[in-house]
Amino acid sequence: MDCAETYCVNCRKPVGRHRPWCEKVQTSAPPKQGDTIDHPTFGPTELISLYSRAQAIEDGVLVDCTDDPFDELNRNAGLIFDVAMTHAVFHRYVEVPEQFRGSQDIKGRYWDIIWMFRSAASRQKLNGNELLFEFLCLPNGAENDGNEKPAAGGIYREVQLKVVASPGDRGEPCLTFMLPSED
Ligand SMILES: [Zn+2]
Repeated sequence: MDCAETYCVNCRKPVGRHRPWCEKVQTSAPPKQGDTIDHPTFGPTELISLYSRAQAIEDGVLVDCTDDPFDELNRNAGLIFDVAMTHAVFHRYVEVPEQFRGSQDIKGRYWDIIWMFRSAASRQKLNGNELLFEFLCLPNGAENDGNEKPAAGGIYREVQLKVVASPGDRGEPCLTFMLPSED
């Protein structure tokens, strides 16, 4: 069997598992270094360097969450965009802390985040292309990035994260979860 034929040329996922946006969004070839783009402020501008979303994922700066178990959870939460998280967010709030292995699992921790984002997004408009939201979590590690405070009467912390909605390298709709201080 030729594996190449089983992948969608638009969303690049197996044809039985198209991205939820695939029917509505036509992607384009990503720009390359040296391409000239028509910049809204600077006019025709040569792209000297280009740090792509794909490259950030490859470098581990971003964690891609478009495959299972996360893809299934995204779909269950009604998220139709491609989801990625910064390494800092994924490590601290999704990965299970050593002391909670057995009582917590990665799917449950991930779900708490995307579900609370989904609830916030249904209540409030995005500020530009950004949204701040809060959820309760037992963070991985002891440090405080200034985006957490103790939740009333327990060991949980109330955490604030930022979500940015933006096009990916090929124009596909993406959500990126990050610390409020990250950009
Ligand atoms: Zn597709």
